Amino acid sequence: MAAVVVVGAGGLGGPIALAVAAAGRPVIVVDDDVVELSNLHRQVHFTMADLGRPKAEVLAARAGAGARAVVARFPALPADLGPVAAIVDGSDDPPTKFAVAAWARARGVPAVIAAALRYGGNVFAGGPDDACYACLFEEPPAEAPSCGEAGVLGPVVGWVGGVAAAAVLARLDDRAPAGATIWVLDDLRRGGAARTLAIAPRAGCECREAA
Ligand SMILES: [Zn+2]
Repeated sequence: MAAVVVVGAGGLGGPIALAVAAAGRPVIVVDDDVVELSNLHRQVHFTMADLGRPKAEVLAARAGAGARAVVARFPALPADLGPVAAIVDGSDDPPTKFAVAAWARARGVPAVIAAALRYGGNVFAGGPDDACYACLFEEPPAEAPSCGEAGVLGPVVGWVGGVAAAAVLARLDDRAPAGATIWVLDDLRRGGAARTLAIAPRAGCECREAA
């Protein structure tokens, strides 16, 4: 079975990889970081015993026999990656999210791109012919605080990561709505209302020029 590439093994990548693997899909976890003490409040798939170990290797081991680790920074992937069914981004780096979107389009696979910061988050999901991530956000922000810098409430990443896992599994099982969508969790402190919006293709986006 073709694998799901999960970019990032942190607070979002953890629940994404574990849920996708538990659904029976092979997972490839891509991350070049090691587990640090400051990660543990939001990266609950790691323990004190994992400190200093590569996140990708620890998470792939937790995800089970169908999971592989790539200790590298996306988009540096090995040539022998094998068949890929979809890619999910759980990094906290906006340029990586745009690179994941472009990679998915070039490979003709669905992309799910998750982000969480402080008390909220969002999950973009789209097929290769749908509106893309750049249709929505145009380009990476000049400066964006990371979770390490700005902080994120631990349970927020579990929630957003779970939604991202559900979104990619729905895409792969043909249960997803037609077209691209973004799910938005506004602020967990104000009741945690979430909504899903349809994303239309943007004229002038590079994904439209290539079509
Ligand atoms: Zn686009």
